[in-house]
Amino acid sequence: MKEAVAGELAAAYHSAIVDEVRGNDFQYVAGRLTVHLAREFGFCYGVDRAVDYAYQARKRFPDRHVYLTGEIIHNPHVNDRLRAAGIRFLTDAHESWDGLGANDVVILPAFGVTVGDMARLVDQGCTLVDTTCGSVLNVWKNVVRYSQDGYTAVIHGKVKHEETRATASQALKYPRGRYLVVLDRDEAQFVCDYIRRGGETAAFLTRFGDAVSPGFDPARDLERIGCANQTTMLMSESLEIGEMLRAAMTDRYGTATLAEHFRAFDTICSATQERQDAVIALLDERRLDLMLVVGGYNSSNTCNLARICAERVPTFHIADPDCLVSADEVRHRPVGMPSTTVSRESATTGWLPGAGDLSVGLTAGASTPNNIVGQVIERLTRFVAGSGVSGAPI
Ligand code: SF4
Repeated sequence: MKEAVAGELAAAYHSAIVDEVRGNDFQYVAGRLTVHLAREFGFCYGVDRAVDYAYQARKRFPDRHVYLTGEIIHNPHVNDRLRAAGIRFLTDAHESWDGLGANDVVILPAFGVTVGDMARLVDQGCTLVDTTCGSVLNVWKNVVRYSQDGYTAVIHGKVKHEETRATASQALKYPRGRYLVVLDRDEAQFVCDYIRRGGETAAFLTRFGDAVSPGFDPARDLERIGCANQTTMLMSESLEIGEMLRAAMTDRYGTATLAEHFRAFDTICSATQERQDAVIALLDERRLDLMLVVGGYNSSNTCNLARICAERVPTFHIADPDCLVSADEVRHRPVGMPSTTVSRESATTGWLPGAGDLSVGLTAGASTPNNIVGQVIERLTRFVAGSGVSGAPI
């Protein structure tokens, strides 16, 4: 079946220009424009597999309704293509879980579904095509072990993100399991202060809202904690939060008994890490006038790539080539806005220097297909050529 969809996938997502750039030491030169592509970018192994399975499922069950529980990955173009291929999205307003049954095929996305959703689909007798990424399953395995051993899973992640919701649900598999989701260093510091000095339960619960498991009692449930994270977070921030929590638990309980109170393991996926490392290397190695980061506005790993870049150079997180409106105007998502909020888009004018050599860095999130990256290069080239300073259209 894999071979049967290979041509369709290549036609939908392949880019000749991206292949050409890879073959040219990740550089593309057109007149005064040089594009420097990060050495790791775009579709990761988990996304590749999930999209492949979705196409295979559609082909394998031509006479049955095929559903996705929601977005398969956070890229609107990929989701639109799956819709066009006849796959229905259970998150769409007119769809419902109630009528699902044995004749229906349901695809689970790369970031997984909650324990409750999985049980419901099994109960309803649906045929499941599970594309949950192995790196996510690895996090779950560790979180379930925390739950079994009575450790609260402290998850560095975004509480509304599908993957974090699914991971948190794994923490409740055993009766002593609990979870707490922390978004960033500020929230981690609040937890550390509570661990060291205690505090008001009500204030703690108000601060974290639905980011804690039902019945959470910080005095009881922060005595034994285990760190985990959404696989697509900023690696440096996840590591720092882990160390902050370790230091707080050491202060509270001492080093001799630390292992009884604190556990940690590395759960950033290698694909996320490689994309972050590659963009840092690009920023270190090249003098860049600006950086373009391509990916869905609700894509966590894309937002984090943009955060890394924005600390060093002017950075525009764009969803697709249409965001490059003209040589004067770009539409983009402001860097630093939480990826789970309904995203606002800003317009910036005068974004492209009009004369002289132009060095543009480019990367793409793990859910961005190569054809979108290629279209961005093409449009950028047209704008630079059109600005009248020696660029040549491709
Ligand atoms: S970003 Fe990582 S965890 Fe998520 S699908 Fe890709 S490889 Fe898997």
